[in-house]
Amino acid sequence: MSLIVQKFGGSSVADPERIKIVADRVAETLRAGHQVLVVLSALGGTTDKLITLSKEITDNPSDREMDMLLSTGEQISISLLSMALHELGIEAISLTGAQVGIITDSSHTKARIKEISGGTIQKELDQGKVVVVAGFQGIDLSNNITTLGRGGSDLTAVALASVLKADQCEIYTDVDGIYTADPRVVADARKLELISHDEMLELASLGANVMNARSVEFAKKFGVTIHVRSSFNQKDGTLITEEAEKMEDAVIRGVTKNTEESKVTILHVPDTPGVAAKVFKILADVNANIDMIIQNVSEKGKTDISFTVINSDFAKVQKVLEELCTEVGADSVEYDQNIAKISVVGIGMKSHSGVAAKMFEVLAHESINIKMISTSEIKISCVIAKDQADKAVRVLHEEFDLAKELIPE
Ligand code: ADP
Ligand code: ASP
Ligand code: MG
Repeated sequence: MSLIVQKFGGSSVADPERIKIVADRVAETLRAGHQVLVVLSALGGTTDKLITLSKEITDNPSDREMDMLLSTGEQISISLLSMALHELGIEAISLTGAQVGIITDSSHTKARIKEISGGTIQKELDQGKVVVVAGFQGIDLSNNITTLGRGGSDLTAVALASVLKADQCEIYTDVDGIYTADPRVVADARKLELISHDEMLELASLGANVMNARSVEFAKKFGVTIHVRSSFNQKDGTLITEEAEKMEDAVIRGVTKNTEESKVTILHVPDTPGVAAKVFKILADVNANIDMIIQNVSEKGKTDISFTVINSDFAKVQKVLEELCTEVGADSVEYDQNIAKISVVGIGMKSHSGVAAKMFEVLAHESINIKMISTSEIKISCVIAKDQADKAVRVLHEEFDLAKELIPE
């Protein structure tokens, strides 16, 4: 019998009516003769509400307690779906990450999965039950509850699909699939039939939050094909899969923005060996998520180091950098929280040149100033002012002709 993993995001389980619709969908899959393993997010908006609640108590909550708090969201949704399935006469059992043996390291709020023992789930499935697992959470070796980072239910689904050798891994969300840009920003964004793991990984890491980036990384590593589709209709969505030759026909697959980072510049750092190592070691020690790094040309033995940091780590970076400044003999630190990173992504870039030139030209034409640039084999990113981000995404989508369907040669 084939096993299908179905993950439903927050908007798909936003209220009791939506939960009943999910139960109907699961029932339909069962009727088609499959076993079903469901992974759920918390009810839409719940995780954000819990974060707001913690802020009313403290500005500086312990990461362990945050995980304890945030993991409750998924416990609510799984029990409610299980009850909805019982109402339909279907045997179902809800289980937390700890109960199904999702063992993680102890990096609270962004834990990494170390091991999954699929035995408990398999036993329940073999008894004919639908198993409903809480996404986004695990347990460390000291029995602390951990969470896997925002959007982490996608990772739970992909990891379980891989361990249990599921025949399909479906991610249900509130859009019809993966688009050439966020359809809420670009009206004529086009739904893609296929996208490679690498392209999706870049898009997700660069701000397309439709998929959690680490879930795509996991899928690539273990060869899991993911079907991203809507829980609001029956249409086929997008397959995230291994790279195929015909995918290179498109130079650019998508454009995205990330408005969740800030820019930090350490001014007048001594340009001597070991300084950059010291700066980034201290940032690594506080587990800060650093992204682009740029060091300026040195002048009179001093240089500036700029980098971007994810906003949720901004406060702790600010705290350690004040002390670090004196320690390394830098003048001061400048912060710019008004930035956005916009990126174009496509595996076709490997064999086509001129994409960077075109991107810079398009931005210049719109009088959008570029503050930082970074590239990889399949992406180009520019940091610009936050209030110009949506405009930049729209003009790049337009100028790279992404709304147009590719006509196979
Ligand atoms: P879920 O609650 O199902 O996990 P998310 O809010 O995490 O849903 O992700 C879905 C959202 O991702 C969409 O509503 C859409 O606005 C956004 N999104 C951003 N970039 C893209 C893209 N390239 N394709 C599709 N959706 C995108
Ligand atoms: N509930 C968590 C979040 O909002 C995890 C998830 O939805 O995947 O980030
Ligand atoms: Mg999500």
